[in-house]
Amino acid sequence: MIITHLNNNIKKIMFDKQDDSCSITFKSNVTNTFQVFSPFYSQSIKNYVYPQINTTPQAPILTGNTLNDAMNELQNIVFYPQDIKYMQSLGVNVRFNNGKEIAEFIKNNKIKVEFDKMDCEGAHAQWDKENNRITINEKYRNTKNPLEIVAISEAICHEGGHAKDADDISSIKEEFDCLALNTLANRYHRLAYPELFKQNSDAAILKDGVNLYTELFFDDDSIKERLANRVIEKYGDLPLESPNHAITVNSPVLNNIMSKLKRTN
Ligand SMILES: [Zn+2]
Repeated sequence: MIITHLNNNIKKIMFDKQDDSCSITFKSNVTNTFQVFSPFYSQSIKNYVYPQINTTPQAPILTGNTLNDAMNELQNIVFYPQDIKYMQSLGVNVRFNNGKEIAEFIKNNKIKVEFDKMDCEGAHAQWDKENNRITINEKYRNTKNPLEIVAISEAICHEGGHAKDADDISSIKEEFDCLALNTLANRYHRLAYPELFKQNSDAAILKDGVNLYTELFFDDDSIKERLANRVIEKYGDLPLESPNHAITVNSPVLNNIMSKLKRTN
């Protein structure tokens, strides 16, 4: 598989079908030319080694319009095939292959993306089926913080997952699938903007949102105890499944969630 992806510092990501090896073409700021880098992956997905790319600090291009900048970021997002496989091994139904697909889905379906108050206090973003729109918590309306803008684009991936069903029904499994989308996007950004991610931010959308879920999904614990507890805490009152979000894979994580639900019901 070859993904050609144009961004400031990453030009092309190639994944070899045979052995899942990967090479990334990135721009060297020393020579100002594109170079190929082949990170090492361990055989086991569980021990998947996150590729390290030696790039100079890069950051998203910001124009001053928070929402446009986040939508531009969305266009750039690549989901790494290894990460998609990993998510599928956890039982996730991955409903989009990259950010561009999500951006096109939003455009083709005339879905509005705007800042507004949240129905549920503490939510970072939400899908509003009645008004065919994705809303982002208005406290981020004027942010110029690139980490927060990147996080908004990741939250849009999550809400795009809900919007794709064209219903206003959700479920524990649907949230699990959508949380995987913001996590796949966050994983991409960590590689695209390594310097940016060295910064700390107290913004809830990061600390209690997209950054947290990367930590929970990529926890070494095979049954993902912390992720299971978090999903139940946030979404435990929803039905288990909803249209397009059936539990079809025998996943230790989903089994863990289900056994906890039975115990608490
Ligand atoms: Zn959701």
